[in-house]
Amino acid sequence: MAKKTITKSKVNKAAKEYSKLSTGWKIFIAVLLIAIVIGAGAYYYFAIYKKKSAPTSALGQFSVHFLELGNNYTGDCIYIKAGDTDILVDGGSRTNSVSTIQTYVNQYVKDGKLEYAIITHADQDHIACWAGDNTNSSLFDLYDIDTIIDFPKSDKTSQVYNRYVLKRDAKADAGSKHYTALDCYNNTGNAKREYTLADGITLQILYNYYYENSSSDENNYSVCFIINQGTNHYLFTGDLEKDGEAKLVEHNTLPKVTLFKAGHHGSGTSSTDKLLSIIQPEYIAITCVAGSVEYTKDKDNTFPYQAVVDRIAKYTDNVFVTSCMDMEDTGETLSNGNPKYKNPDGAKARALNGIIIFECNDNIVTFKGTNNSIKLKDSDWFKTYRTTPTQWV
Ligand SMILES: [Zn+2]
Repeated sequence: MAKKTITKSKVNKAAKEYSKLSTGWKIFIAVLLIAIVIGAGAYYYFAIYKKKSAPTSALGQFSVHFLELGNNYTGDCIYIKAGDTDILVDGGSRTNSVSTIQTYVNQYVKDGKLEYAIITHADQDHIACWAGDNTNSSLFDLYDIDTIIDFPKSDKTSQVYNRYVLKRDAKADAGSKHYTALDCYNNTGNAKREYTLADGITLQILYNYYYENSSSDENNYSVCFIINQGTNHYLFTGDLEKDGEAKLVEHNTLPKVTLFKAGHHGSGTSSTDKLLSIIQPEYIAITCVAGSVEYTKDKDNTFPYQAVVDRIAKYTDNVFVTSCMDMEDTGETLSNGNPKYKNPDGAKARALNGIIIFECNDNIVTFKGTNNSIKLKDSDWFKTYRTTPTQWV
């Protein structure tokens, strides 16, 4: 009782003190109290209530790593992590990249196991480290693999392709599940069109007309897939060419995508307006040695083509490229009349962005490179060898 009396008298005293204050002070205290109430309410709403009810918090953690293998040759090798699920897509252009791939992947894969190996098509710049050779192990021998998904068709007869088939079949005989992308699309046997990778993250095999029809271009046989994470979608089409992209658009309902791995290393024969106008990508990763004359000595048609840069610029300037080389004019002319370029004698590819790491966690997207995180348009290589599209000025 005594305590209560004391409290009551304290309250009365405070009330008396308050009544003595000037009107200005009374308004100040009232405003302060209102601000505290609103502040506390806002904190509860945004920091506690909203966090609990945010739909994205149910989605697993996701990252894609576009490897830079450090040699002068363009090739794909992409590591994807969705929650605890590990996926390796393609295996570089040279068999001796295997230790570089293994060292990088093993930072994330601690149990020696890949849940999925996806090999998009049979060209050397995608299968080399899966094939291996007499001195370099095959990735098939370095990891336990649950499920191998690869291309249903190939016209290849190369040694590296034959070795790939041998290694893949041996792995399947040893217990890995092996399906073609067509098996997956058709849900044949135990193959599935859609796999759940983690909470709220799915891998969906798309229909490519050239899974079951012949093409004069091996690239068109590429496995095409999309990864869905809530409202974010990530599209991978291997080296699919113009005809393949047209069929892809015709046969699949494609969403707008957060990330697109530019088709065929930024070749002008892929990433067509037909596809881009539907997927309207926010971020683009290009895996290539920009400016290497490996495939052409026509400056504007080295990867990534000027033409594809111009088409991409309509949708985004968030474009990132793994590595690059310098070019110089030889003073000679190509058969098409354009100047003939070369890479300087003894030149080595250098990192542009380096390994490109795209992450989406709790709906927050980050895109960074291990060398730097600058956009292609701001790189010295781009400023020297490409013309800036009007949208990027
Ligand atoms: Zn390729």
